[in-house]
Amino acid sequence: MTRTLVVVGHGMVGHRLVEQLRALDTESARRIVILAEENDPAYDRVGLSSYLEGKSKSDLTLAGQDFLRDPRVDLRLACPAVSVDRTARTVQTAAGDQVSYDALVLATGSRPFVPPVPGRDLTGCFVYRTFNDLDAIRAAARTGRPGVVVGGGLLGLEAANALRLLGMRPHIVETAPHLMPTQLDAGAARVLHEHVADLGVHLHCATATASVDAHPNGAVRAVTLSDGTVLETDLVVFAAGIRPRDELAVAMGLERGERGGIIVDHHCRTSDEHVWAIGECAVVHGSCYGLVAPGYRMADNVARQLLGKDTEPFDGTDTTSTTLKLLGVNVATFGTTHPEGGQALEAVFAEDTTRYAKVLLRQDTGDLLGGILAGDTGSPMPLGSLIGRQPPADLEQLLLP
Ligand SMILES: Cc1cc2nc3c(=O)[nH]c(=O)nc-3n(C[C@H](O)[C@H](O)[C@H](O)COP(=O)(O)OP(=O)(O)OC[C@H]3O[C@@H](n4cnc5c(N)ncnc54)[C@H](O)[C@@H]3O)c2cc1C
Repeated sequence: MTRTLVVVGHGMVGHRLVEQLRALDTESARRIVILAEENDPAYDRVGLSSYLEGKSKSDLTLAGQDFLRDPRVDLRLACPAVSVDRTARTVQTAAGDQVSYDALVLATGSRPFVPPVPGRDLTGCFVYRTFNDLDAIRAAARTGRPGVVVGGGLLGLEAANALRLLGMRPHIVETAPHLMPTQLDAGAARVLHEHVADLGVHLHCATATASVDAHPNGAVRAVTLSDGTVLETDLVVFAAGIRPRDELAVAMGLERGERGGIIVDHHCRTSDEHVWAIGECAVVHGSCYGLVAPGYRMADNVARQLLGKDTEPFDGTDTTSTTLKLLGVNVATFGTTHPEGGQALEAVFAEDTTRYAKVLLRQDTGDLLGGILAGDTGSPMPLGSLIGRQPPADLEQLLLP
């Protein structure tokens, strides 16, 4: 009898799982039902911002015609899963259908976190995650008007750049003293701040969004900051982080992580032997990974398990490097930039507002742990491969060619 795999979520990681199964399952032993909440098949969310630079939905889609026509795959768009009966092994969809499964993989991703500020639901408030979000922002954008982005991390910078491309004058509000506080130190952030200000983006760091204020008609009129500044605007984008989407798993009685997410073991298995969780919704080794590369590794691992093949346990390391891919400024981290216990030697090779390079070395051995690069520096790629080794004699040349 044909076995059925149900995949909940057709995002980047759910799609990767199905592609791997299609490639490896040459005997076609399995039927795959994908329940997708969004109206579009999986797309390159990492490249989402390019949708506002002229790329179309079909440029960004991950699902080619061979995938959409594969008789083994039953992709149901705009068809979210609403509940699961683990005893009967069935999934209930919002359309009222019941789908039986032998194996169930949850790949439900994350949702944007919107801080609980008064006025956050007013007309003119947006998040930045899906095609629909960007369509709504595009429709609301007004050339020459200020727009406020709440959050100065990678996503906030992408959103601010999007507003700039739409002809708006973006402001970024960040509670930390500088942009990208998770990745950068003050020196690297100085380079980024200088560059971002040159692009016409206004920064408000070390202050919070106190409220979003309304016109009498219920639309956004302004944003008030906790330092008393009032920014007149009719468009606000919240880009203040993400939270794993675990609501379905919680209702199924699966274990939830301390800070949300579905707890799985190092093979992405939940406590139910028929259910796995992969991608941003999964908590592996106590962490959720908000990046696509670890999600892909989880998908590859589960595809092999489903086909009875050997797998290596998921290893959460090597997921720390970051590159800002927008705004025309290089900002990158590689390796560890927050060593355990803060025990590391630091060496800064250039420090001004055009370039900055810092490396961290193990205190006892002097081995390279990681580093931060900003502005006109070398590529982080060759440096990443030197981690755990003695820095080469030409380190400075690699950092500042
Ligand atoms: C603008 C932007 C830029 C990014 N840039 C980078 C980057 O440079 N590098 C990087 O590594 N990562 C980046 N990311 C993050 C990356 O996109 C995610 O890590 C990746 O998409 C995670 O894949 P996923 O499949 O786990 O989740 P998602 O891609 O979010 O997919 C989950 C899907 O599940 C659906 N779903 C949820 N619940 C249900 C349900 N009950 N029933 C059916 N469907 C459901 C959701 O609607 C969604 O379509 C970026 C993200 C954004 C938004």
